[in-house]
Amino acid sequence: MGFSEIKGHERPLRILQGTIRRNRIPSALLFTGDSGIGKRSSALIYLQALNCLERQDGDACGACTSCRKIASGNHPDLLSIQPDGGEIKIETIRSVEEFLAMKPYEGRKKAVLIDEADAMNINASNAFLKTLEEPPADSVILLITANPDTLPDTIRSRCFQVRFSPLPAAAYNAVLNAAQSTEIDDTARRLAKGRPGLALAGTHGADARRCAELYAAMARGETKDAWEDRQDMEQWLALAPLVFRDLAVARIGAGEPLLVTDAPKTEDIGTVLEKYRAVQRVQTRSAFNLNKGITWQYVSEIVRSKKWEVGSRESGAGSQEEL
Ligand SMILES: [Zn+2]
Repeated sequence: MGFSEIKGHERPLRILQGTIRRNRIPSALLFTGDSGIGKRSSALIYLQALNCLERQDGDACGACTSCRKIASGNHPDLLSIQPDGGEIKIETIRSVEEFLAMKPYEGRKKAVLIDEADAMNINASNAFLKTLEEPPADSVILLITANPDTLPDTIRSRCFQVRFSPLPAAAYNAVLNAAQSTEIDDTARRLAKGRPGLALAGTHGADARRCAELYAAMARGETKDAWEDRQDMEQWLALAPLVFRDLAVARIGAGEPLLVTDAPKTEDIGTVLEKYRAVQRVQTRSAFNLNKGITWQYVSEIVRSKKWEVGSRESGAGSQEEL
């Protein structure tokens, strides 16, 4: 057990294990990389290794009482933080400060694990920065984020950054196959490529299939909008680029389709690109309270047109202006 449990992240794990071997443990670490690739699992192994009672060569045994407590979330020296209502607030950061102010109870290190660290609001970030500037002795703070660019520079620059990449195909398939209990549909597997956490969550696949179905409805000329609400519409607009990608892939005859398995091979590639751009422009406007019914008609018009010439539409006071 230990680091070898994690598949496909050899490089970052070697770096992490090295910090323990050489006893150069950073007081703050930042794990970055896409959602669903194993940052949190890796973080837990690292935290296990820090406090493992049977540690060997900088790795966790996975079986001692300390390792088991960390795995089950019951170690008194580990505080795990997650956003509450999409946000990490200053009260939570205060509780981190209080937690770190005390000496380790039974382990070598006190550790705080902050998931989705980019969800810290401005007050929380400012308070947290002070903690980072004066890290208490025997403490480790581990931040996880898929969006490091949204963290303030002042926080990022004080952390030892460890980058995680989507898994290579072999490791990805191995992780999914090992999770036999969950049935993963093919769409989810293809879409989540290299991100097993997303494939296992499954929702991605269902959303994507629905996106393809609504696209087909537009192509058939259904005039009544089929979006349930604004959120549904926005989600469709966010996923729609994948449909156009599939149309392009079908035309070129290269690559696997992600959503549309029966895309026509006849559509002119330039037209596909123009349609793609036109829908993307609608998406960038979705912050402006688009009317659902009108947007459906407008997007349907793009989808159905044989030749979509953006210039001619934008010059006049066409339906786009009414959006
Ligand atoms: Zn152990």
